Amino acid sequence: MNFNCDIYPKILPVGKEAEISISIAESVFKQGHTYSIHAFSKVNLWEETRLEVKADGDGFLRFCLPFQTQGEYLVNVYQAPEDKLITAHLFAAHPDLAWRKAYKGDMHIHTHYSDGRQSPIYMAVRAKELGLDFIAITDHDRYQPSLEAIEEAKKMNLNLLLLPGEEVSVREGCGHFVALCASDWVAAQKSQTEIYDKDYQDILDNELKDKTLVDELSKEKYAHAVWTVKKIHEFGGHAILAHPYWVAGQKFHLNRPVYDQLLEDGLYDAVEVLGDVTPEDNLLSVAKYFEEVAKGRKIPIMSNSDTHRSHDQMYGNYWALVLAEKLEQEEIFDAIFDLKSVACEQHPGEKLRIYGPFDLVEYAFFLHREFFPMHDKICAQEGELYMRLLNGEKTDHKELERLKTELGRLYEKTWGK
Ligand SMILES: [Zn+2]
Ligand SMILES: [Zn+2]
Repeated sequence: MNFNCDIYPKILPVGKEAEISISIAESVFKQGHTYSIHAFSKVNLWEETRLEVKADGDGFLRFCLPFQTQGEYLVNVYQAPEDKLITAHLFAAHPDLAWRKAYKGDMHIHTHYSDGRQSPIYMAVRAKELGLDFIAITDHDRYQPSLEAIEEAKKMNLNLLLLPGEEVSVREGCGHFVALCASDWVAAQKSQTEIYDKDYQDILDNELKDKTLVDELSKEKYAHAVWTVKKIHEFGGHAILAHPYWVAGQKFHLNRPVYDQLLEDGLYDAVEVLGDVTPEDNLLSVAKYFEEVAKGRKIPIMSNSDTHRSHDQMYGNYWALVLAEKLEQEEIFDAIFDLKSVACEQHPGEKLRIYGPFDLVEYAFFLHREFFPMHDKICAQEGELYMRLLNGEKTDHKELERLKTELGRLYEKTWGK
């Protein structure tokens, strides 16, 4: 028999002993009755603990366990020999990871202000329904829609972190950069021809003057990409290289020599390793990521839907899992740049796929199995109520508050703080 059980905290730092508590929804633990516990590391065959624990009056089993190995632990609870009641799952993470919580974000989303279908606030509420914790609206060369989303979300007290953004098309077909958290409209600077031409000439005369570029790349072409990243940085923003292997029509949208040079120069803040391109093009992107990392290159990664519709089959299918202390703009980007993010994708009827550093991928699979189903369920309920609010229908505000508290409590219980 295996009952549904609650075990908290679920995330524990390696190298410490921690107090664990387990309860069963059906209140099977009887006060004063002794239960046998067999806890073991899934990855280290030699690490196991056996205990006899008496149930407390409130129906909880409380006990301490040591965690010496990074990875998943299983806890079997027996009410008699050969009569197992439950198997519970825990994860012992390196202390550098264990204090960080997990958040899901999509930072490349279009609306009807460019070639998308819905309004910015509609896309934001839909994000909540889909279980995302943070998003950025990033219309083509338009910054204002992302500000509109932030403003509208504030009015309805939407429990979602929204970041300012736009997708900047680099001149001369040198790709797209998603600009996030810039203080102003980057793309607008491109149309100010006089200023652009001066900046562009400066780049040719200075940064690129004595530089040797990869084969087949001219300084005149590359200077447009340099201008874009420079301008995003000048506005205090982060430059995310979008869809590096998207085939637009019959050709790669981003010229290969340009991508090679950007990698060479580290001229990006993060790369969109997964996005709304064909599986082949995403896997090329993943292969390139691993090849570059093996060379010692630092590549912060993201996975974005690049969706153009609220119920597009891609929205909600791509997300970055970010391990950050808090759900706040600065913490999220610090974590991404500190390589504490993984790229995730899951399509209807298919299994979840996660790419990134090994330890994070293993941890992320655990979180998606043991934490996110509950997280996503609460978010979906919140999203449904916000959607009613957006449609001008009567909404239970008290219930919205209760769900927000419940989500916060789920994080506290899971991480034990
Ligand atoms: Zn694009
Ligand atoms: Zn896009």
